[in-house]
Amino acid sequence: MKVRVRGEPHRIYACHCDFCQKRSGSTGAVSAWFASDQVLETTGDTKVFNGLETDRVGVAERGFGVSYYFCSTCGSTVFFTTEVTPGVHGFAVGSFVDPDFPPPTEEFWTELRHDWVAPIRDAAAYERFSGR
Ligand SMILES: [Zn+2]
Repeated sequence: MKVRVRGEPHRIYACHCDFCQKRSGSTGAVSAWFASDQVLETTGDTKVFNGLETDRVGVAERGFGVSYYFCSTCGSTVFFTTEVTPGVHGFAVGSFVDPDFPPPTEEFWTELRHDWVAPIRDAAAYERFSGR
């Protein structure tokens, strides 16, 4: 699948929660959030996975579920939407394969951050999730 956006994301954060570790198969995930009118195109087949069914702790903590759209060819999560933030799309920063992409300004669930993962310089750090 391919996505194209314009402009800068209005929010970028890293999440170390158990669900992001499991769904990404890594130590966490970095998300960049864009207004829907910044999303120019999404092409290719996606499947959607609703975190409501498996992310029970996160849903209880945040109070809402997240719909994860992943590429049906490679299996990577590409973007996400939530029911409480209509008009906003989150994208997996890795989808852009851009080493110059701006860094996260927030880190969530630092209590589950792997010990060898360094805190992100100048990012606000929260032991759990904070805000939307
Ligand atoms: Zn998470």
